Amino acid sequence: MENRLAILELIDKLYKKNYLEKEQLLYILNHIEVYGKDHLIKRAHETRMKTYGNKVYIRGLIEITNHCKMDCKYCGINIYNKNVDRYRLTLEEILICCELGYRLGYRTFVLQGGEDSYFRDDIIVDIVKSIKSKYPDVAITLSIGEKSYESYKKYYETGVDRYLLRHETASRRLFEKIHISSSYDNRMKSLLNLKEIGYQVGAGFMVGIPDQNKEDLAEDIIFLKKLDPEMVGIGPFIPHRSTIYKSEKSGTLEDTITMLALTRLYLPYVLLPSTTALGSIDPKGREKGLMAGANVIMPNLSPKSVRDKYALYDGKVSFGYEGAESIDCIRSKINSVGFQLDMSRGDNIKWRTNI
Ligand code: SAM
Repeated sequence: MENRLAILELIDKLYKKNYLEKEQLLYILNHIEVYGKDHLIKRAHETRMKTYGNKVYIRGLIEITNHCKMDCKYCGINIYNKNVDRYRLTLEEILICCELGYRLGYRTFVLQGGEDSYFRDDIIVDIVKSIKSKYPDVAITLSIGEKSYESYKKYYETGVDRYLLRHETASRRLFEKIHISSSYDNRMKSLLNLKEIGYQVGAGFMVGIPDQNKEDLAEDIIFLKKLDPEMVGIGPFIPHRSTIYKSEKSGTLEDTITMLALTRLYLPYVLLPSTTALGSIDPKGREKGLMAGANVIMPNLSPKSVRDKYALYDGKVSFGYEGAESIDCIRSKINSVGFQLDMSRGDNIKWRTNI
């Protein structure tokens, strides 16, 4: 009973102040599955209604390459996985995706890929210029990993609006455990560089990484509060059969929902996707995420022939409700849980008022 009251009070304090100390956050994380989960979700929903109302922003996700020079141990397209049928999209193929997306009403395209040296800066610049000259009213988000300050600056000056680079985990111990050669410091520095340049920046983390504990998750939230990104991507870790984590358990829907709701309360103005990974572990995952404070979805706009090849984890869904072409089905599912699809660029409102 005492625990229950303490949790409810802490959630209300967080709701009012958008901040709790790490110890208080840990207290919530240690007890929330027993007490207060409904209250947390309710407060996260109220916060989102105050900042963005019942709108759900939509992005067309184009997976431009599954070549990757990195060795992230958890990722199905890491360099050591010899079972991947590698592909990269041409400029023409990317433009066809954009044309289809634009006709369907999408006004944000997210170009994501492995860290593929083929996509030199001049090639990226060419792609961005081509999209922007045909569709000046769209926002472009890039998510192609760690680059130098100069490269980030070049992309920004060409017209890239947003950059997604999940920090993956704010715990140095865990980061170093799940990556072979990536540097924790460089990941964090890259995020600071992106912020300094002026992007709308997306950080984010996986929930349920092998050996991740509650303190690591608390660190993720405290890190995000300090960084103050415009977007945060949170999804469950899901094992891939060709990685060393193939026999590990996935992160759970419940834990991911808790982290989404807490993130909404710490960062009331953040754009928070209900991620594909959440939709992949539970057929109702996307809707449950939206009801816990998430307000963005990113259906797959890649050519259908390559979707299965961008397999970051087993069971990744990219058709049906997860396919960008299923816009009517997406709209009616979103309406069914009380939200309204917003097809505009969907900028972060705090960022928009600061420029
Ligand atoms: N290369 C870019 C980067 O590093 O930011 C973008 C592509 S990367 C494949 C996109 C995201 O997929 C990663 O940030 C990671 O969080 C997620 N991811 C990779 N493997 C995953 C897995 N097994 N389970 C859940 N998410 C995974």
